[in-house]
Amino acid sequence: MMCLFCEIVAKNIPSKIIQEDKDFLCFEDINQVAKIHLLIIPKQHIESFELIPSDVMANMTNFIHKLTKKLFINKTGYRLVTNIGDDGGQEVAHIHFHLLSGEKLKQIYKR
Ligand code: 5GP
Ligand code: ZN
Repeated sequence: MMCLFCEIVAKNIPSKIIQEDKDFLCFEDINQVAKIHLLIIPKQHIESFELIPSDVMANMTNFIHKLTKKLFINKTGYRLVTNIGDDGGQEVAHIHFHLLSGEKLKQIYKR
C-alpha cells in the first residue's frame, strides 16, 4: 500500500504540480492556509525529517531555491515548515515541507 504522497508522486491521485524533477515534487496543498501554500517532497518515501539523509536534504534545498526564484518570492520571503511525528502534528507520514507565502504571514513563534 502506497502512502498518500507516494500516490500523488505516481499520479494516481491528481494534484496541482508547480515544479517537478526526477527526485522531487512540489504541488499545491489541498487546504490552502496562505495565498501561496505548497508542499515540497522527495519522490522517495521517507517518513519524516528524522530519517532524511543529509544529501537528499541538500538536493531538496537546491530544488526549493529554484522554486522560490521561479515564483519571485526569493526576495519577498516565505516560510518553510515541516511537522515531525505526533507532537509535531504530522498527518501524512511522507516528509513534506510546507511553503507558505504570497502575503505577510502572522508570527506564530513570537509574542
Ligand atoms: P501535515 O499535517 O502532515 O504537516 O500536512 C499534511 C498536509 O497535506 C495538510 O496541509 C493537508 O492539507 C495536505 N493534504 C492532505 N491530503 C491531501 C491531498 O490529497 N492532496 C493535497 N494536495 N494535499 C493534501
Ligand atoms: Zn510515501
